[in-house]
Amino acid sequence: MISKKMIALVEGSGAIRAMFEEGNRLAALYGRENVFDFSLGNPNFPAPEAVKQAISDIINNEDPVTVHGYMSNAGYADVRESIAASLNSRFGTSFGLNNIIMSVGAAGGLNVVLKTLLNPGDEVIVFAPYFVEYGNYVGTFDGKLVVVPPDTSDFLPKPEALEAAISPRTKVIILNSPNNPTGVVYSAETIRRIAEVLEKGQQTHGTSIYIISDEPYRELAYDGVDVPYLTGFYENTIVCYSWSKSLSLPGERIGYIVIPDAAYEYQLLFDAACIATRMLGFVNAPSLMQRAAAKCLDAKTDIQSYDRNRKRLYGWLTDCGFECVFPQGAFYLWMKSPVPEPEFIEAAKRHNILLVPGGAFGCPGYVRLAYCVSPDTIEHSLPAFKKLAAEYPKIDHS
Ligand code: PLP
Repeated sequence: MISKKMIALVEGSGAIRAMFEEGNRLAALYGRENVFDFSLGNPNFPAPEAVKQAISDIINNEDPVTVHGYMSNAGYADVRESIAASLNSRFGTSFGLNNIIMSVGAAGGLNVVLKTLLNPGDEVIVFAPYFVEYGNYVGTFDGKLVVVPPDTSDFLPKPEALEAAISPRTKVIILNSPNNPTGVVYSAETIRRIAEVLEKGQQTHGTSIYIISDEPYRELAYDGVDVPYLTGFYENTIVCYSWSKSLSLPGERIGYIVIPDAAYEYQLLFDAACIATRMLGFVNAPSLMQRAAAKCLDAKTDIQSYDRNRKRLYGWLTDCGFECVFPQGAFYLWMKSPVPEPEFIEAAKRHNILLVPGGAFGCPGYVRLAYCVSPDTIEHSLPAFKKLAAEYPKIDHS
């Protein structure tokens, strides 16, 4: 008999698997191009040319024993140095190689950090709606996920609600901006107020509370909106970064963790995170991709295409009468469901539109659309959305 924890997870993953199967079923019936799959955050735009060039340069010019070999669990020293220098020039920080640990994407980074920090029963606070995997990651290390209910007026984390959620067992709060699933970006003022509440919480309970800043969407911000760097606001901040979305490399599994000197028990934390990297079976982040990423620190994905998708879809859906949050970042559109969302998801499927229910993010009553699809998919989906909207006479179709 397999682990009881895993049995529960297999049962719980039914909805996502069903959606995947539904996509295949509809594609077989109507053709892949007639299925509008907005369910997955898998970038449809290729990695920038610089990535291909970097991989080819490394393969052709660098020593293959080094390129494909083991290295320190934290990753190649020269790669970590380059990342630290790049962060310092962008955000005015003063990191060095000993503040950076290369990771297997943001997911790998989050698991390493949670393993490093959590004792069984320690509490991890998240703001709904939140990335669905946080619960699984926290559960792996026997932590307890504490969900702060959403403020649906703007989907920003509210300091008062955070204060009410803090307890003597609070160890971590996970922040994710630009946010999946809402697309909102947290302002410097929001972060400053969160930091104040956490400082107070630490003092009240005599504990250390860490922010984990989960940042796979950092580079995907529109209209010049500022995405503040959190280590400048709160000392106990650990950053989990990833190139999955920023360079369209989700399958390559590459990112890094930042552990600043100012974090509580920095040296122990850093050393433990290196051991966690090894123990979780990552051993180190993929070697070739570490070297390639370091050569592409200034490369940019096709943000203009995401931006065009964002404006087209938002404009169309709101014209159809749907209520949506205008996304400032990431590549998700968060839309109010006009009826209970399971019913709406089924109705959308009848128009070959696949959406993710808000309940999967701890926020029923909404749906998420991932608009990292091709512009053609967006254009071809528009009449289907129009027909879907027509099924709900109560929404304003002007
Ligand atoms: N965190 C958030 C908020 C995400 O949306 C994702 C992926 O979609 C991840 C973490 C995991 O990203 P990675 O592919 O870098 O592991």
